[in-house]
Amino acid sequence: MTRLAPPFDAFQGWLIDMDGVLYHGTRPLPGASSFIRALQEAQTPFLFLTNNATRTPAEYVQRLAQMDIHVGEEAIFTSALATARYVQQTYPAPGPVLVVGGNGIRVALQDAGFALTDRADQARIVVSAMDVDATYARCAEATLAIRGGAAWLQTNPDRTFPSERGIVPGAGAIQAFLEAATERTPLIIGKPQPGIFQQALELLGTPPEATVMLGDRLETDILGAHGAGLKTICVLTGIATRDQAQAYHPRPDWILDDLNGLFRK
Ligand SMILES: [Mg+2]
Repeated sequence: MTRLAPPFDAFQGWLIDMDGVLYHGTRPLPGASSFIRALQEAQTPFLFLTNNATRTPAEYVQRLAQMDIHVGEEAIFTSALATARYVQQTYPAPGPVLVVGGNGIRVALQDAGFALTDRADQARIVVSAMDVDATYARCAEATLAIRGGAAWLQTNPDRTFPSERGIVPGAGAIQAFLEAATERTPLIIGKPQPGIFQQALELLGTPPEATVMLGDRLETDILGAHGAGLKTICVLTGIATRDQAQAYHPRPDWILDDLNGLFRK
């Protein structure tokens, strides 16, 4: 049985980024399944926290199971779910929502009880996200709705997205397109904004100072978690290098080569 080493075994709750931390694409990273099993055996609450709003929790559960990581849908918290929760909490009866985005955000809003519309004149709220099927027509409806006074939320600010062929436009590129057309800026929910961290802490039920964020990206995982009052661990299996992590402000509380650095020897 794998156990976490001190001081990591003392945290009451964990927020865990996925891409670059647990896996790259479909390849699990060293220690990933042992790490999650250690948390499960110790009955330590955790959430997988991702800015990626394109997939549903069910899709993540399936993908993780293929990597020998076995969790329920309640362990997955995406910027799409955080956005749907935010709309629910902030606008009690918002009417139909106009979405520029994919399945992840559409399903999250529908599961939260919202009707979706493709028409600017019906929408009082616009939600934008990564959208591989974005069209001029869809962006034009969003622009008309925003210019007509609809509230505008953005699931996550990531400007680019790593694909097999290289860097391609991400959610933030859709946002930039709509900003150019509307001369407005959206309320952003995903990391590093406080919205997603506050909601994740509510779900975990743990105080920020006893909760730790484990991530690979300094300007989202580490910056956002530090701002929300959490402890931070940067793992070097994804985006950040050791030099970048050591030079970053706020500096991560711990910098680890990989997840094996969390275990008792
Ligand atoms: Mg990551």
